Amino acid sequence: MADTVAPEKRSEIMARIHAKNTKPELIVRRFLFRKGFRFRLFDKRLPGSPDIVLPKYRTVIFVNGCFWHGHDCRLSVQPKSNMQFWQTKIQRNKERDLRNRIRLESLGWRVMVVWECELRTKELREDTLEGLINEIWEI
Ligand SMILES: [Zn+2]
Repeated sequence: MADTVAPEKRSEIMARIHAKNTKPELIVRRFLFRKGFRFRLFDKRLPGSPDIVLPKYRTVIFVNGCFWHGHDCRLSVQPKSNMQFWQTKIQRNKERDLRNRIRLESLGWRVMVVWECELRTKELREDTLEGLINEIWEI
């Protein structure tokens, strides 16, 4: 597969990856907090240490970076160099995500995922976050 992302774009994507997706997580956390939700962060007692845990709703939320978690979108386009390396790494992440989801669900948790690309613009962000709380309320 050819690298279809321009070099400047590529470094922007890589920069975001190295920032550990702090921004998308903060966006989700701030929104939920403003809406009155209370939650725990990175609960290590649960499989995969979910980014956000809402005990009252028995719900966990992962805020996933598209590249690392292998989302099928344009943000997840892989670098041309070291392709095998990245593919293996990302495949492993995806398998781990799936295992964690299965374990969480078997413990009775609902698992939700917010993707980085779903928060990219103001419009997308509003839709995604409204959709998220509607889903949380839907028990
Ligand atoms: Zn994505």
